[in-house]
Amino acid sequence: MGAVHEAFREFQYPTPPSARPGGAQAKFLAEVNAEEAERNKDLVLAEYRRYQQGEMPSGPGARDLISFFASVDGKLARAAAEDPTVVGSDQEVRALLAEVAGVLHLGVANYCWFIDPSKALCLKLAGTPNATKPPAGMCDSARCPQATHHPRHRPVWAESVRTKQVFIGSIGRNHKTEKARLQADVDRDVKVLASIDAAAAA
Ligand code: SF4
Repeated sequence: MGAVHEAFREFQYPTPPSARPGGAQAKFLAEVNAEEAERNKDLVLAEYRRYQQGEMPSGPGARDLISFFASVDGKLARAAAEDPTVVGSDQEVRALLAEVAGVLHLGVANYCWFIDPSKALCLKLAGTPNATKPPAGMCDSARCPQATHHPRHRPVWAESVRTKQVFIGSIGRNHKTEKARLQADVDRDVKVLASIDAAAAA
């Protein structure tokens, strides 16, 4: 079949997007993204409900997240004042949380709220300030202003402390610098654990 004939046929009977080369992958990707968006909304909703119970997030980005949740409180209160049928249902709250759910990335030991790339410590460390998402394996959540820690991350930090302490115990006396470096890491992890506990109990 000639190219002109083929083009004419495509005009008469357009190929559905999913049947075009790459169409199936694009469709699959869109489905994955949609599922991720829903999962993120569920996670943010769960954190918002914890915040309402007084269980706060911790970490360098906690203050921003708490003020965002406070702004959601305000929006709900204003909406309820205008319309008494607004009761802060999960559905209503999910709609208000969509904004931050869209920028949430799940780290192993933290949540990453990738709102402003210029504040992302990982991008500074990687030397890629214009990247549109965080690079894998570069997160330093204890120091990044876009990171928060939550009770679900506690086991990872606790395990990190345990393994580093075991390692420090196995280092010989002659390796003082290495020992001191690891001890500083442990101290930082212990601080993160303490702040998770303190914020959750607030
Ligand atoms: S350092 Fe971690 S929390 Fe900060 S932007 Fe990068 S991935 Fe997100």
